[in-house]
Amino acid sequence: MRSLRSGLLARRPWTCMQCRRASSSPVASHNKQTKLPDFPARTRFAPSPTGYLHLGSLRTAIFNYLLAKRTGGQFLLRIEDTDQKRTVPGAEQRLFEDLKWAGLQWDEGPVVGGPYGPYRQSERTAIYKSHTHDLINNGHAYRCFCPTTRLDAFARGRNRLGLPPGYDRKCADISPEESEERAAKGDPHIVRLKVDDYPVFEDLIYGKMGQNRSSNKLDLIDRIYDDPILVKTDGYPTYHLANVVDDHLMKITHVIRGTEWMSSTPLHVMLYNAFNWAPPQFSHVPLLVDKAGRKLSKRNADIDLTLFKDKQGIFPASLVNFAALLGWSHTQKSDVFSLEELGNIFNLKFTRGNTVVSLEKLRFLQKSHAQRYALNGGPEFDGMVSSVSKVAESTSSPEQLSQILQFRPLNDLIAPLLQADSKSYTNATEFVTRNSTFFTTNLDRPQYTPTTSNTTTAVPISSLHVASAALCLVPLTHWTAAVHKFNISSYDGASTILENSTPALTEDPEQVRIAADKAFKKELYHYLRWALSAGAPGPGVPETMSILGREEAVRRLQEARELTSDKTVGSPVTARRAREKTSLPEESDPDRSWMGSLAPGS
Ligand code: GLU
Repeated sequence: MRSLRSGLLARRPWTCMQCRRASSSPVASHNKQTKLPDFPARTRFAPSPTGYLHLGSLRTAIFNYLLAKRTGGQFLLRIEDTDQKRTVPGAEQRLFEDLKWAGLQWDEGPVVGGPYGPYRQSERTAIYKSHTHDLINNGHAYRCFCPTTRLDAFARGRNRLGLPPGYDRKCADISPEESEERAAKGDPHIVRLKVDDYPVFEDLIYGKMGQNRSSNKLDLIDRIYDDPILVKTDGYPTYHLANVVDDHLMKITHVIRGTEWMSSTPLHVMLYNAFNWAPPQFSHVPLLVDKAGRKLSKRNADIDLTLFKDKQGIFPASLVNFAALLGWSHTQKSDVFSLEELGNIFNLKFTRGNTVVSLEKLRFLQKSHAQRYALNGGPEFDGMVSSVSKVAESTSSPEQLSQILQFRPLNDLIAPLLQADSKSYTNATEFVTRNSTFFTTNLDRPQYTPTTSNTTTAVPISSLHVASAALCLVPLTHWTAAVHKFNISSYDGASTILENSTPALTEDPEQVRIAADKAFKKELYHYLRWALSAGAPGPGVPETMSILGREEAVRRLQEARELTSDKTVGSPVTARRAREKTSLPEESDPDRSWMGSLAPGS
């Protein structure tokens, strides 16, 4: 049986008045307490296998892991499965997988073992039994043989009067001999901790806590006490007993957990005192809430990790980075960190007050990590290439792909595409959708609309045809983004615009040229993007030409010219010159004068 009181203690987030007032201060002011320990910290993540890892529990695991790494200590994993009825089959295995996916390898715990095992509470019942005996023998705990019916009636009666449940200590007066005898006979019973006053404790984030629970006599006249349950009728310890015994025996120095456990901590400290043990240092990290201030739940972001890792394709590093920033502050210039980098800079500067979870930040971090991977290569980048390949193969026909690839392997298109557009990478599916024009030869271009409708500054379409034809002169061997970039920037765009205009005498001819060139380049880039990728956002024009490959890029430019050839609006001279020059070259063009010298008439 689980006591109502202990259930409430475990679930209800509780903050004392003083801390509620202080909770508006963004960063904990206990400077000396936010300093890292000068010894290796032993921390633990102690999930109950009653569900899967969520954003909130992942964050708890990360903070504990990072403190151990930063101080050269150990990070333990302990499975708190004393509530067998709530244990979900397969949850433990999933926890292991999810922690490993996130990179949070535990130093001691299930699978890896360690000197203080077993690390699964259901395998430690003998340890809890002997410790319960110690508490009964030293007078801090007693057996309670009251039947459930009495306790329930008692709780109902108090509830009707608006009073919290409690216990009248009826069994506390049973003599030790009788208690032993009845227990030996198998009389059903629970074990309660005798609590008169809960102790105050020092939280590393919130400071002195527990003041408003200084007296635990719930009702002095009726002699009603909290006396929480330590051992249930099935002989299993409650979370409180097992948690304290294990943290002590496993030599845990720091406990970082959510504020929902804050209300249980006075009881835990009480237990440490009863055993005559020194408690670890506690840090209760703030609650995660959505933008509307609601506690995270399945309806908003506290979904289990599957959504992020399998459905959204978020990298472990992005999610870990994101979770680590929830309620923790640092002084670095950027927010983008790998797990290893976090381990090098971690401190105990946690923020107070609720932490708002903004999933836009996760998208930003995902793009930032994608950029890092694209820049550095390595297994993560290979993973991106292979996920994008899979999506591209499933969304494009093999004929379309092979026409673009021209005997190149698919990865030879995808790797440079990822490198050129990693800043927008969220996941493979979204990436392929955004860059869909790289995987099809059927470009659904909207009608070409120039950047300006002002006829005096408009660039004749024919001169755009001339320029794009000139760009196609580059042979396959030199078909690179760098060459295209150089050629576009050195293309003499001003001449095409200024050919038939007479600058005013007052104008500086050089300034006029610069302005004309700028206007031309702007239109040229606009036209080329429309021609090559139907105006879709994505890699820059030179990169696009290079990634598509010569054959496909030239074909697209030719197609674009045909689509716009009836729109020749330039002067008769320019139009004539355009007609002369827009026939697209063969790849084997022996003339190498294309290199950086594509000005019309050169
Ligand atoms: N078993 C508890 C949980 O599931 C652990 C709480 C603690 O860290 O003490 O979250």
